[in-house]
Amino acid sequence: MLFRHKKECTHTKVTPEKDACYCPDCGKYIENKWYLTRCSCCNIKRKSIIKFGQIMPETKYCPNCGAENYYTERIKSINFIDINFAVLVKEINEERSKNRTQSWLDRENEPIKLIGIKMSFN
Ligand SMILES: [Zn+2]
Ligand SMILES: [Zn+2]
Repeated sequence: MLFRHKKECTHTKVTPEKDACYCPDCGKYIENKWYLTRCSCCNIKRKSIIKFGQIMPETKYCPNCGAENYYTERIKSINFIDINFAVLVKEINEERSKNRTQSWLDRENEPIKLIGIKMSFN
């Protein structure tokens, strides 16, 4: 209960096997994106975490060269090696989420339009 706000959907039903899909709990279009951090100095992969809404290395300093600086890299297709380093970010695609809302509204309006059509039987 400490970590989960009731209002904020964590999209738990959006599983990482798919690249993207609509969250069945909140209806937003969710894109699964993998990121990992690399050392800016020696370029090795750093084990990554999400802290304060930011992607960062788990440890402050690079275990290989001791540098503090890092950069974030997007991984297009995750493999079983990278999965140990990477973090999964569930990003809301607002554009697709909006489109869905739009088409849903259109569909809802349809029966009203049909009722408006004048029928003549005589
Ligand atoms: Zn959701
Ligand atoms: Zn390094």
